[in-house]
Amino acid sequence: MPNLNLGQTLDHHIGGRSHPPSSGEYLDDPAPATGQLAGRIARGNEADVEAAVAAAQAAQTGPWGETSVAERADLLDAVADAIESRVDEWAALESADTGKPISLARSIDIPRAISNFRFFAGAIRHSRSDMFPMAGALNYTLRKPVGTVGLITPWNLPLYLLSWKTAPALAMGNTIVAKPSEVTPLTASALAETLTEVGLPEGVFNLVHGLGPEVGQPLVAHPRVRGISFTGGTATGARVAGTAAPLFKKLSLELGGKNASVVFADADLEATLDGVTRAGFANQGQICLCGSRILVEESIYDEFLAGLVKRVKALQVGDPSDPATQVGSLVGQAHREKVESYVALAREEGGTVHCGGERPGGDLAAGAFLTPAVVSGLGQDCRTVQEEIFGPVVTVQPFADEAEALALANGVRYGLAASVWTRDLARAHRFSAALDTGMVWVNTWLLRDLRVPFGGVKESGVGREGGHLSLEFFSESKNVCIKL
Ligand code: NAD
Repeated sequence: MPNLNLGQTLDHHIGGRSHPPSSGEYLDDPAPATGQLAGRIARGNEADVEAAVAAAQAAQTGPWGETSVAERADLLDAVADAIESRVDEWAALESADTGKPISLARSIDIPRAISNFRFFAGAIRHSRSDMFPMAGALNYTLRKPVGTVGLITPWNLPLYLLSWKTAPALAMGNTIVAKPSEVTPLTASALAETLTEVGLPEGVFNLVHGLGPEVGQPLVAHPRVRGISFTGGTATGARVAGTAAPLFKKLSLELGGKNASVVFADADLEATLDGVTRAGFANQGQICLCGSRILVEESIYDEFLAGLVKRVKALQVGDPSDPATQVGSLVGQAHREKVESYVALAREEGGTVHCGGERPGGDLAAGAFLTPAVVSGLGQDCRTVQEEIFGPVVTVQPFADEAEALALANGVRYGLAASVWTRDLARAHRFSAALDTGMVWVNTWLLRDLRVPFGGVKESGVGREGGHLSLEFFSESKNVCIKL
């Protein structure tokens, strides 16, 4: 059984077993809510990446290459069952490593990781392949694994996002070298152990811990890694793309966002206030999909802003392990300082901070907590409005009509997601179609069906994950034409 306790020293996982770092060095992994050590991780380097890629390459040509769809689907289900049998322990580990409320880890992060494995098990069991008859010949399409793929993930939803890539990559028969965020590495190691335990052949899933430039970069640059699935910041994504493109790798980039929640005067006010508050502050605002720019029709602006500030002030900031906590700790001290700098910037830019942006004292003083902030009075060109803050800070801007709402919503370099709040059905369709984003929610937020396309446009990324799109990314289609 994987060790789900805090305070472990974690090595890499290469070739089905624990693998100490060739550097002999380890990195501290602090628990953000307490400042105490959550664990220590191997400090990986290029030699460790080389060892992991070699193990993955060996596994690709071994028995794994011969497994049937049914066998791979059963393995994915077994992973889901193993995680499900200890949900509370996985959730406690994720909550301690990230600072997120235990209620969130228990209701979203871990259940979603379980669903990711079950979903892709079902998806391959029911998958079909194309056949194109033509005059005197028949074409059919085989889907082959890409080979060894690199999976690079961020700190905000550690197991959720790693499993979202691992499940389809395994489903299609690839071998993996995973590089989780050095900030939140714990559940990745537990996943590696679980995969080995349920019978995944050695070398199929390898994990190298460490820093982005020391592990992520050589992984992306490795010539025998044929695909990279990356989720993280836009600046890092640009570096990854720059390295991978000349090597002609398959590349999926899920990057940052600065998403709008667009509130029209005809919306159901109470339900919208609840939804927009959740969209702004879930996971302390550290979800790429969070609605951090709230655009409100002028005629209800004052009433809406007052209702929003009231709700945000009522959010319970506290110890993430307390089931009543709604807002936990940010992921670390350095990230809190970055978010605080944006609250200061908002004031410099002439904004009004209606609540939040402060460090709570008392029992929370040692952690990276920040009270949730609502800012108004900023123009569209302000950096606070334009740049991804990735914390518990929202801006609120008024708009006069639909045309202005659209200009504001689309007027940023990102294009990941948006939510639209209205009871006018025609407008909901019209506005959704005109938004420059990869995803739109109407009168809801973060309602997810794993079959739908997930991803963004502009500087929010390239490519889509989800359902058959993930299966396509993690496979190469090959056409066979037979003359009859
Ligand atoms: P980050 O870009 O700093 O790091 C992401 C991962 O990349 C980490 O594992 C990191 O170690 C690694 N990395 C760093 N430098 C690298 C390099 N040169 N080469 C290869 N890998 C490297 O992002 P973060 O701070 O961990 O996460 C927050 C960001 O992720 C936010 O911008 C957020 O919007 C984004 N995000 C996007 C999605 C999405 O689906 N679009 C989901 C979650 C988070």
